[in-house]
Amino acid sequence: MTSAQVGKTEIINNICGYFIHQDPAPILLIQPTLELAETWSKDRLSPMLRDTEVLSDLVRDPRSRDSGNTLLYKRFPGGHLTMAGANSPASLASRPVRIVLLDEEDRYPNSAGAEGDPGSLAEKRSTTFWNRLLLTASTPTVAGSSKIASRYERSDQRKYFVPCPHCGEKQVLMWGNIRFVDKDPSTAHYVCEHCGAILTDKDKPRMLAEGEWIATKPFDGIAGFHISELYSPWVRWPELVRGFFKAKRSPETFKTWVNTSLGETWEEGGETVEADMLLKRKESWGTEAPEEVVVVTAGVDVQNDRLEIETKGWGVGEESWSLDYKVIYGDPAQDQLWNELDSYLQRTVKSKIGVHLNIACACIDSGGHYTQAVYEFCRTRAMRGIFAIKGLSMAAKPLVGRPTRNNRHKLRLYPLGVDTAKEVIYGRLRITEPGPGYYHFPTERDKEYFEQLTAEKQVTRYHKGTARREWVKTRSRNEVLDCNVYALAALKLLSPDLEQLTATMQAIPKPKPENTTPTKPTQSAWIPKMDNWLGD
Ligand SMILES: [Zn+2]
Repeated sequence: MTSAQVGKTEIINNICGYFIHQDPAPILLIQPTLELAETWSKDRLSPMLRDTEVLSDLVRDPRSRDSGNTLLYKRFPGGHLTMAGANSPASLASRPVRIVLLDEEDRYPNSAGAEGDPGSLAEKRSTTFWNRLLLTASTPTVAGSSKIASRYERSDQRKYFVPCPHCGEKQVLMWGNIRFVDKDPSTAHYVCEHCGAILTDKDKPRMLAEGEWIATKPFDGIAGFHISELYSPWVRWPELVRGFFKAKRSPETFKTWVNTSLGETWEEGGETVEADMLLKRKESWGTEAPEEVVVVTAGVDVQNDRLEIETKGWGVGEESWSLDYKVIYGDPAQDQLWNELDSYLQRTVKSKIGVHLNIACACIDSGGHYTQAVYEFCRTRAMRGIFAIKGLSMAAKPLVGRPTRNNRHKLRLYPLGVDTAKEVIYGRLRITEPGPGYYHFPTERDKEYFEQLTAEKQVTRYHKGTARREWVKTRSRNEVLDCNVYALAALKLLSPDLEQLTATMQAIPKPKPENTTPTKPTQSAWIPKMDNWLGD
């Protein structure tokens, strides 16, 4: 399990060279796709075969007429090397092979055609050899579903220990020991975990030369090695830190950085968002919605004695502002509570531009004990953009799916991919700079609000041997998170063109401060045509 830039491809190349020269055998090398297998053959294997005398004598040049060799098939005395793509089941199910090499296994499709996991398919080709060898090398992906991480987990987990030039103590280089001053990558250095000495890239060659692989778990047939870019002779620590700052701008690029630079799996929501971190960034924008807000949605959670409602404002890039959080107490079985909700949802939000924004869409959870009451409420209010939703707790579901109508009221009920929504929200809560996806919170929100918003985390659970990512509550109350899920679903249902709306709203002249009765343009002119989401 490796990062990029540590010579993984060259190691695989050398293994091929070794077996061709010293211990000839049938070899199968798999790349994620057929195209990558061809590229690998041309750019990596061919130069080695050409420039290494002992190999060029053994593997005939494919250009010579009688070689029988092609780009993806090389014969040599005592064996052959076949290269294949994990996306092509035909190329995996060939003759028995003794040596199976899997490059970048985490980038393989989950199934080669209908045949199943490509890595296992290739591995099966070698089962008849007593002296078979499987080598797999990859940068990891998401924790819980990463193939290389699961193989490394079962191995003896060797790590590369390097001695400190000052105190001589051996240690594994870890990102947590990299330090820098004032967010300036050029100041990056390493701090010895034993003596606190400051180490720089100048110390690296000696440390690498004197390092050794040490197993951290007992050996049970699988030798596992982990190495990160911190060790790379070709990447200086300041460059690594520069990459970190660049990647940190969005959860998506940061995930790639963790995989490819640290060579570690990405814990999706594993490191839960800290309530305290969010609490610290509260801001004050007054009673009117910030001018970036062009659409307002609401999410309603139904509890036994109350309704909880989050009203959110949305701008370009789905940057959002928590405009209001309201709890209405009452009995969901009685009309009075729903009447109060009705008037609450009819209220408008005044924007700093001087426009009054309606709640353009609201989603109400119908999954609890009061399904019929929710249906009853939503039945006559679809024209106002008020919809019943039903949460589905399954991975990889669309955030909002196609509505069903198989209920007594023939009501349009929207299935909601709750796990997907939570992934989106937690990804966005980790964004630390205002801009696309950023969540703004007003000073009025209390600690409880943030604790509920961050009340869940994703963990890996095993079902019949396969790993699955699941959301679990870390505290009992999580209504704020649910309301945020529903308000996001309402935005997705509406799917407004936020850039277009922003351009339209910015063209409206701003009200003069002394003008106490601002003109009140009707919002209907620019909210998305209802037909878009009311049509069947
Ligand atoms: Zn030291």
